[in-house]
Amino acid sequence: MPKVYTCSFCGGRIEPGSGLTYVLRSGVILHFCSSKCFKNFKLRRDPKKTPWSAYYVKAK
Ligand SMILES: [Zn+2]
Repeated sequence: MPKVYTCSFCGGRIEPGSGLTYVLRSGVILHFCSSKCFKNFKLRRDPKKTPWSAYYVKAK
Protein backbone atom coordinates (compact mmCIF):
# COMPACT_ATOMS: atom_id res chain seq x y z
CA MET A 1 0.00 0.00 0.00
CA PRO A 2 1.53 3.33 -1.01
CA LYS A 3 1.63 5.94 1.69
CA VAL A 4 -1.18 8.47 1.59
CA TYR A 5 -0.05 11.98 2.33
CA THR A 6 -2.03 14.95 3.48
CA CYS A 7 -1.71 18.27 1.75
CA SER A 8 0.66 20.61 3.58
CA PHE A 9 -1.59 23.53 2.76
CA CYS A 10 -5.25 22.53 2.78
CA GLY A 11 -4.95 19.35 4.86
CA GLY A 12 -6.74 17.31 2.23
CA ARG A 13 -5.94 13.73 1.35
CA ILE A 14 -3.54 13.21 -1.56
CA GLU A 15 -4.21 10.14 -3.66
CA PRO A 16 -1.06 8.14 -4.49
CA GLY A 17 0.34 9.27 -7.81
CA SER A 18 -1.33 12.67 -7.68
CA GLY A 19 -0.31 15.95 -6.18
CA LEU A 20 3.21 17.24 -5.95
CA THR A 21 6.14 17.12 -3.57
CA TYR A 22 8.24 20.14 -2.70
CA VAL A 23 11.49 20.02 -0.77
CA LEU A 24 12.56 23.10 1.12
CA ARG A 25 16.20 24.10 1.27
CA SER A 26 16.08 23.14 4.95
CA GLY A 27 15.30 19.56 3.93
CA VAL A 28 11.65 19.66 4.95
CA ILE A 29 9.46 17.73 2.52
CA LEU A 30 6.04 19.20 1.79
CA HIS A 31 3.22 17.54 -0.12
CA PHE A 32 0.55 19.41 -2.02
CA CYS A 33 -2.68 17.95 -3.40
CA SER A 34 -2.78 20.36 -6.32
CA SER A 35 -0.96 23.21 -7.99
CA LYS A 36 -3.59 25.45 -6.43
CA CYS A 37 -2.31 24.63 -2.94
CA PHE A 38 1.29 24.89 -4.10
CA LYS A 39 0.62 28.31 -5.60
CA ASN A 40 -1.01 29.53 -2.42
CA PHE A 41 1.92 28.24 -0.39
CA LYS A 42 4.33 30.07 -2.66
CA LEU A 43 2.30 33.24 -2.19
CA ARG A 44 2.92 32.74 1.53
CA ARG A 45 -0.78 32.57 2.22
CA ASP A 46 -1.74 31.46 5.71
CA PRO A 47 -3.84 28.25 5.59
CA LYS A 48 -5.59 29.44 8.73
CA LYS A 49 -6.89 32.42 6.75
CA THR A 50 -7.82 30.48 3.63
CA PRO A 51 -11.51 29.50 3.73
CA TRP A 52 -11.16 26.31 1.65
CA SER A 53 -8.34 24.95 3.81
CA ALA A 54 -8.99 22.36 6.51
CA TYR A 55 -6.77 24.47 8.75
CA TYR A 56 -9.02 27.49 8.36
CA VAL A 57 -9.92 29.02 11.69
CA LYS A 58 -13.16 30.93 11.74
CA ALA A 59 -12.82 34.33 13.32
CA LYS A 60 -15.14 34.85 16.20
ZN1 LIG B 1 -4.33 20.94 -0.84
